[in-house]
Amino acid sequence: MEVQCPTCSAKFKVPDTVSIATCPYCGTTFHVHTGEESPEEHFFFPPMRKDAGGVLLKFLSRQYGAPADITGAKVTKKELHWVPVYFFYLHGRSKRWSTIEEVRFVGIPAGSPFQGLLKDYPFPIRGKRFFDESVVKKGRYYEPKMSKEEAEAIARKLMEGALRSEASQEDKSLGDFEVEVNYLGLVHYPLWEVHYEYGGQNFVGYIDGTDGRVVQAEYPLMSGARKKASLLGTGVLAAGLIIGIITAGAYGSAWGLIGGLIPGGAGAFGIFRKGAVKKRKVSEVTRVNRGNLYFKPM
Ligand SMILES: [Zn+2]
Repeated sequence: MEVQCPTCSAKFKVPDTVSIATCPYCGTTFHVHTGEESPEEHFFFPPMRKDAGGVLLKFLSRQYGAPADITGAKVTKKELHWVPVYFFYLHGRSKRWSTIEEVRFVGIPAGSPFQGLLKDYPFPIRGKRFFDESVVKKGRYYEPKMSKEEAEAIARKLMEGALRSEASQEDKSLGDFEVEVNYLGLVHYPLWEVHYEYGGQNFVGYIDGTDGRVVQAEYPLMSGARKKASLLGTGVLAAGLIIGIITAGAYGSAWGLIGGLIPGGAGAFGIFRKGAVKKRKVSEVTRVNRGNLYFKPM
């Protein structure tokens, strides 16, 4: 049968046998016959069946400068953590400008040592289930350290920031605005912590327990790649010098030379630094446009 979401008005199909459905567009859980929102507010995401260690090493084998035999590294520890996250659906709009309006779904991590790691994380809207203690028992469980109200305040701030940045992109000042918040519940989110050993050294990675995305991981950068990285660094420095000499010639002063060296030096520094460390950090979750991850203009 077709049902309509009481929060965002989206229409979608559900099997005739279900009495409760979760909207795939905004995450609201409601009774399909009455349209009333479900009083149950505690959920979890079912963990994937794939082995987190295998997923991590396979991902790392494709990374720049990773050793070819990294997939054979020894996994020394694997632990599943259940991170408490408050989920909200927000609708914000400027009262002054009709073009400034945003609708977004956000997850605010509320406790555990991984609160910082999962800040701004693009949590999935689909797939949550009513909390099941027996499933969660298979991992480490954390209580939220933050109240729902505190999390809501953070979510509102995020929405306000998004509205402000949208206004400034349009060269307008936001003025009065309103934010409508729909609380979607407390979700315990699975996160795998994987330790592995390579060349006598230990490395750590964190994997999204629902779909295997690599949230963050370290790997050994091989010496060949390090050498290549430092050569590249020298190249950037040389390019800076050349640009500097050309500008110095054009302006007939030393200022052009210095101007060319500064960006060249800054560019080379970053690359040199990457070239010098043995551990390199990567993430599969792209953070283009960081700080404005959840919010896109409507
Ligand atoms: Zn909806």
